Amino acid sequence: MNDCLFCKIVRGQIPSKKVYDDEHTYAFEDIDPKAPTHVLIIPKRHIPGLKEADTSDAEIIGRCHITAAQIAQERKLEEGYRTVLNVGPAAGQSVFHMHVHLLGGRKLNWPPG
Ligand code: AMP
Ligand code: ZN
Repeated sequence: MNDCLFCKIVRGQIPSKKVYDDEHTYAFEDIDPKAPTHVLIIPKRHIPGLKEADTSDAEIIGRCHITAAQIAQERKLEEGYRTVLNVGPAAGQSVFHMHVHLLGGRKLNWPPG
């Protein structure tokens, strides 16, 4: 999508700190990290959010999570990390290109705020 922030990051039109890149997914450091590790994993194809996804998006949603798990393993976070999708403005979604947050490197409280 032309004016989508994360599509622009995928196209390299806005800089990002790349963590991982493959045919389907792109991962980069969150600009305002909420934990020592805070990486965003996104599908290269524009999907606004989880509530707009359908079963044709099942594979890419799974890929984003598997990518998150691989990054967590590389960073030795396996004592505990969290993957989060904020869905809709009331849950804190501010960028409407679906993204998985990978958070780790500190104690993560439950339930989240
Ligand atoms: P959400 O609030 O769940 O939609 O998450 C959006 C995330 O994108 C937030 O954690 C922001 O800090 C992050 N973010 C916004 N702009 C950028 C950017 N240019 N580069 C990296 N992360 C960004
Ligand atoms: Zn997009």
